[in-house]
Amino acid sequence: MNFEQLWAGWRSSYIANAIHALDHEVECVFCALLDLDDEREAHVLWRADHAAAILNAYPYTSGHLMIMPLRHVGEMEEINPEEGFDLMRGATNAVRALKAAYAPEGINVGVNIGSAAGAGIPGHFHIHVLPRWRGDTNFMTSIAGIRVMPESLDETWKRLKEGWPDT
Ligand SMILES: [Zn+2]
Repeated sequence: MNFEQLWAGWRSSYIANAIHALDHEVECVFCALLDLDDEREAHVLWRADHAAAILNAYPYTSGHLMIMPLRHVGEMEEINPEEGFDLMRGATNAVRALKAAYAPEGINVGVNIGSAAGAGIPGHFHIHVLPRWRGDTNFMTSIAGIRVMPESLDETWKRLKEGWPDT
């Protein structure tokens, strides 16, 4: 597994689809998803006053989600204290939900700042949280760059919603 695969995240085809699905023009897929009324359709797992958790539509592994500020802000140093509090709260909730839903052997929590660092959506800050297992660089990924997901995004959303703490 290389780093690019691990953090590939949101891809242009998904962005195009999300924007196409909306009636109005948008410039940011995260803002577009956060604007949707249907949390299941947008795969929103949690929403606080200043941050939200959304499933990654192109996950490295089932359970790969992101925490982001509600405000469209790209630079980490522009995150205000209230947003920082909710971002950390969301990341902690995500860890709890992943442990409850998947009992992973490890969890990655990470941020890519700038496209050179692998950020797929550099304009809207987000924290990746994803479950890991020993040896999860599987055969298909190693030889063909193909990832086999054991479940649909809808199923992942349901499992993580059930495991999400009430905080
Ligand atoms: Zn945005």
